Amino acid sequence: MAGLRPVPLNLLTAPDIRRLAAGLELRPTKQLGQNFVIDPNTVRRLVRTAGVGPDDVVVEVGPGLGSLTLGLLEVAKHVVAIEIDARLAGLLPSTVAEQAPELSHKLDVVLQDALLLDTVTPAPTAFVANLPYNVAVPVLLRLLEKLPTLERGLVMVQAEVADRLAAPPGSKTYGIPSVKAAWYADVSKAGAIGRQVFWPAPNVDSGLVAFTRREPPAADREKTFEVIDAAFAQRRKTLRAALAGWAGSAPAAEERLRAAGIDPTARGEVLGVEDFARLAAT
Ligand code: SAM
Repeated sequence: MAGLRPVPLNLLTAPDIRRLAAGLELRPTKQLGQNFVIDPNTVRRLVRTAGVGPDDVVVEVGPGLGSLTLGLLEVAKHVVAIEIDARLAGLLPSTVAEQAPELSHKLDVVLQDALLLDTVTPAPTAFVANLPYNVAVPVLLRLLEKLPTLERGLVMVQAEVADRLAAPPGSKTYGIPSVKAAWYADVSKAGAIGRQVFWPAPNVDSGLVAFTRREPPAADREKTFEVIDAAFAQRRKTLRAALAGWAGSAPAAEERLRAAGIDPTARGEVLGVEDFARLAAT
């Protein structure tokens, strides 16, 4: 029955990446977080861990030379790839046409800064990306905010950022990224990635972060995010002191904290997103 098995796709290897980059005379920039995956096994692992299936429309941010894009096209119904670098966005359709012509019709490439993205068509169900590291958190939060049809996703980020995104209240790494991501989704770490699977090799380790959308708290998001920003701007202070500016004065902050059932002498790092939402609603 071997004939019924789909033929495994030619994913990009290190020589392919070198050849494609040389064709563009591309010098990967740190500013755009350009570290390209050169290892097909890593791509397969990402796609498998993301749980993407034939009904999924996937949005990918930063397709680069197409390593992950090809792996996603193999399993998804459609892929919309958002790339800020015109040379990379321009090359991607021909790379896919070369490596996997039968999958070309499933790909849309959009030349855009993901930080400015408002909509994606067709409406995506999943977000899978090897994110540019310096903008990973704002890109993730932006997509969760702007694309309500996103049900789940998997992103590769700097290991330290993976820790922060998935941190529970009370832990050392818990902070603004953790609590804002928790507004939209259940977030968890989904594995570690070494440096050698990239070209050029970054000088930090990477980690995978999985998320599944959840019902957000019943509160105003912008107001909740304001109080989160205020609480963590001075994270060593008690909430009574840290939120004095936000509430108008320390006594006013204490009153609102008490009204929300929160100890005014606690610190922001012990509050969950539901606590912040309650506080914002006082
Ligand atoms: N997905 C490819 C891979 O795994 O080999 C490349 C990943 S590389 C870490 C990040 C990619 O994001 C680069 O192609 C870079 O040009 C692109 N990028 C950087 N900032 C971006 C932004 N604000 N919006 C969209 N793409 C961006």
